[in-house]
Amino acid sequence: MKSYDAVVIGGGPAGMTAALYLLRAGASVALVEKLSPGGQVLMTSEIENYPGFPKGIKGYELADLMTAHVGVYPHDTLNDEVREIRTVGKRHQILVGSDWIEAKAVILCSGARYRKLGVPGEEAFIGRGVSYCALCDGNFFRDREVAVVGGGNSALEEALYLSRLVKKLHLIHRRDEFRGCKCYQDKCLAHPKMAVRTSSVVQEIAGDTEVRAVLVKNLKSGEVSEIPVDGVFIFVGFEPVIEFVPETVARDKGGLITDCEMRTNVPGIFAAGDIRSKNCRQVATAVGDGATAATAAFAYLEQLDA
Ligand SMILES: Cc1cc2nc3c(=O)[nH]c(=O)nc-3n(C[C@H](O)[C@H](O)[C@H](O)COP(=O)(O)OP(=O)(O)OC[C@H]3O[C@@H](n4cnc5c(N)ncnc54)[C@H](O)[C@@H]3O)c2cc1C
Repeated sequence: MKSYDAVVIGGGPAGMTAALYLLRAGASVALVEKLSPGGQVLMTSEIENYPGFPKGIKGYELADLMTAHVGVYPHDTLNDEVREIRTVGKRHQILVGSDWIEAKAVILCSGARYRKLGVPGEEAFIGRGVSYCALCDGNFFRDREVAVVGGGNSALEEALYLSRLVKKLHLIHRRDEFRGCKCYQDKCLAHPKMAVRTSSVVQEIAGDTEVRAVLVKNLKSGEVSEIPVDGVFIFVGFEPVIEFVPETVARDKGGLITDCEMRTNVPGIFAAGDIRSKNCRQVATAVGDGATAATAAFAYLEQLDA
């Protein structure tokens, strides 16, 4: 079984930063990524809020730059899926594809995925009007008309954030009442820019090269109406990618729980980026988590070897 000081799982911004920091500190590292390196950045057409790129940068360009930067330092890149992790004494064994590898420290950076509505037009218009992140894409819809779909806290919070930017916002929720906290509900219901549609579901997202409208069905009357919008923000749930993470690693419904050094409750297992239970999921925060996790992991390795 091949053995490393550290195995980093996930080649998104958190994983690439963690690998970079560990490699520069002199650790032997395997970086495991089941797809192409870049993570969610590859799903982002233009990133305008990552410092250092005043004109913005295309997602794939940033992914390529990060990959090239990690590539400066010799390491193993394993292009396969992690299926299981088990701890044997002070070592962690990781099943990558059909092969086991071993490490003294593991950094979990497998990110998260947004739940989709699963309606026609959604996939086709991602990055062309369909978004899952107001903080990322809200600015593109300044003074324009958008729909927000969802009824939990994140939908209401994101709607309130967007309401500061957009001209008009249609808040669409399938139930009679919102699930989000009362303070957000009151603000949304009273907001002059928001048109609230409860008991309503999006049936289709329509457009040409970009989103132009949403087709919304009222579940009580059965009536379908077409609302002209430039963007659709979907907040119907979010899941950290943790199916391969042992149950012994503490979690809540937002993701894995860490301390401020990115340590989980299991010695030698760290978590960084969107996989963590946290509020702000961005490239900048993933990079920060990755650097912090690597630094803590390196200190852990030194103490283990002492
Ligand atoms: C459409 C969209 C637009 C966005 N726009 C912006 C923006 O403008 N600005 C901004 O700052 N942020 C933006 N974000 C958010 C940002 O991309 C994420 O916060 C960031 O990528 C999180 O990094 P991460 O490394 O934690 O996880 P991810 O980027 O999710 O990377 C995780 C990686 O782990 C891999 N992986 C998962 N499971 C396994 C496994 N079992 N084995 C091996 N590999 C695995 C995945 O393939 C993936 O490559 C956007 C996100 C989306 C979806």
